[in-house]
Amino acid sequence: SHELRTPVTALKGFAETLLDGAMEDPVILKQFLEIILAESTRLNLLVNDILELSKLEQRQVPLALQQVNISEAVLATFQLVDQKVKEKNMTLELVEKDFVTLHTDPNRLKQILANLINNAVVYTQAGGHITVTVEKTADQVHLHVADNGIGIPEADLGRVFERFYRADKARSRETGGYGLGLSLAQHIVEAHGGSIALEPNEPRGTVVVTLPANASKRVDSL
Ligand code: ATP
Ligand code: MG
Repeated sequence: SHELRTPVTALKGFAETLLDGAMEDPVILKQFLEIILAESTRLNLLVNDILELSKLEQRQVPLALQQVNISEAVLATFQLVDQKVKEKNMTLELVEKDFVTLHTDPNRLKQILANLINNAVVYTQAGGHITVTVEKTADQVHLHVADNGIGIPEADLGRVFERFYRADKARSRETGGYGLGLSLAQHIVEAHGGSIALEPNEPRGTVVVTLPANASKRVDSL
C-alpha cells in the first residue's frame, strides 16, 4: 500500500500546488506537468505489474501455446532494450549452445526475458556486457542471463525475488524500479513448471532460469 500511496500522494500534491497558483508561472507549470506525467506513467506500470502478479497467483493466466525457438525470443527481447543499450554503449551477446524449441506462450517467455535482460542493462554500468546463454540437457532447458555490472550484494541474495524488494533502495530508486520484476519472472517461470535462481558461483547477479524441456504437458494442465 505504501508503494501505491506514495505516487498518488505526489500526483495529488503537484496538482493542488498548481491549482493554488503555481500554474500562473509557465515554467513551473510545464515542470510540474512533466513530473505528473512521469509519475503517472510509473504508477501505470506499477498497477499493471500488481494486477499481473495477482492474476498469476490466482492462476488466471491464459496461455497461448505454440512452438517457440528460445534464441529468437532472446533476440526479440534484445530489440526492446536496444535504445538503452546504445545509450549506455553496452554489448549484448547470445550464446546458443543448443537449438532449443519449446511448446510455450511466447509472450510469457518474453516477459521473463525482458525482466532479466532489463535488470542486466539497468544494473550494469556504461560499456558493460550482457550474455544470454541457451542450453539444453536431457529434460531441461537452461537460460542464463549474465552481466558484468554492480552485482547483487551478498546480503540481498536470498531476498531479491520477493515482491517490492530492492537490493539498494537508494540506487534502485534512481533507476525507477519497484522491485517487482524478479517476482513476476519467478511466478511466470513457476507457472511453467520451471525454476529461477541466482547462479551461486557467479558473484555478479547471474540469473538462471530452468524450464522443463517437455513443458507442454505441465503448461496445458494449468
Ligand atoms: P522493477 O523490475 O519492478 O522495475 P527492480 O529492477 O528494482 O524493479 P527486480 O527486477 O525484482 O526489481 O530486482 C530486485 C532487485 O535486485 C533490484 O532492485 C536490484 O537491486 C537487484 N538486481 C536485480 N538484477 C540485478 C542485476 N543483474 N545486477 C545487480 N542487481 C540486480
Ligand atoms: Mg527489474
